Amino acid sequence: MHKVVIIGSGCAGLTAAIYAARANLSPLVLEGHEPGGQLSLTTHVENFPGFPEGILGPELIENMRKQAQKFGAEFKAGSVSEVDLTKRPFKIKVGNEVYEAKSLIVAAGASARLLGLKGEKELIGRGLSTCATCDGYFFRGKPIAVVGGGDSAMEEANFLSRYASKLYLIHRRNEFRASKIMIDRAKANGKIEFVTPYVVDEILSSEGLVNGVLLHQSQTGQKREIALDGVFVAIGHDPNSMAFRGKLEMDENGYLIARHGSLTGVPGVFIAGDVQDHRYRQAVTAAGSGCMAAIDAEKFLEEHKD
Ligand code: NAP
Repeated sequence: MHKVVIIGSGCAGLTAAIYAARANLSPLVLEGHEPGGQLSLTTHVENFPGFPEGILGPELIENMRKQAQKFGAEFKAGSVSEVDLTKRPFKIKVGNEVYEAKSLIVAAGASARLLGLKGEKELIGRGLSTCATCDGYFFRGKPIAVVGGGDSAMEEANFLSRYASKLYLIHRRNEFRASKIMIDRAKANGKIEFVTPYVVDEILSSEGLVNGVLLHQSQTGQKREIALDGVFVAIGHDPNSMAFRGKLEMDENGYLIARHGSLTGVPGVFIAGDVQDHRYRQAVTAAGSGCMAAIDAEKFLEEHKD
């Protein structure tokens, strides 16, 4: 029986683990299918407070993990397949193991969608990114592309145009999901060229670094190659909330909904990080919400000593 089980080992989960461990709650962290979360897939992080020279994403995560372990957090590999939140102790299934918890922090994160192209994952942090706020700065004065046709793609294109020498907005259709105001803003931006309807067939690279994209026009099949230094894939995120469907409140996109702070409709279950945040999605906001969830769990355990 664990006092606190934390699902997820990204920024939110690890911060929750540090706080819960320092509160003598000996948390168990279930690492999930992407241990370390999205930070483990990035290179330099320059906007996490406290690191004036920046820090590598995997190093930041490793530091947080060590910090949590130092205070007594325990880690187990594996993804949660099922949870029973109908009564306490909660039951959490990972593979053949079932863990019991007096309180639960869900910090399972969200995964950025990728295009599904060969070699794409290996290029993350090497010219391919899923986060404009994190990586835009590295492409000052360089030609880059944003792939996608939703609000995220428009927002990232506008944001990145302040760094890029030229920005190609590549979308597979001529119609956009993005709101009109966001499209108009991007169209009025002299640095942005709309490349539609084009599908990305390949992300080209040389010596392991992105140096272009190979596209085809989706109606005529005509090929086009564009030389560039960076590709930002902005085709949406999927919150890792499948195991909580029908058990915790979520919006139509699967993001968990907090009632107040990190509290959910199930007393003793708290949520933190990107699994409940489609707006800010930053390491520092995830860490902040992880801290909130740990404090809320501590207060809950204090009030429910049964
Ligand atoms: P989204 O609205 O679902 O748009 C995803 C886009 O990616 C679509 O244009 C889609 O193309 C394209 N796409 C999906 N899979 C693809 C693939 N395999 N290959 C190529 N293209 C692919 O996602 P989002 O833009 O991340 O927005 C998510 C939600 O957050 C939306 O409700 C949005 O309004 C909101 N949001 C709001 C703001 C804001 O208001 N400031 C900013 C960001 C996000 P198709 O259209 O052809 O399917």
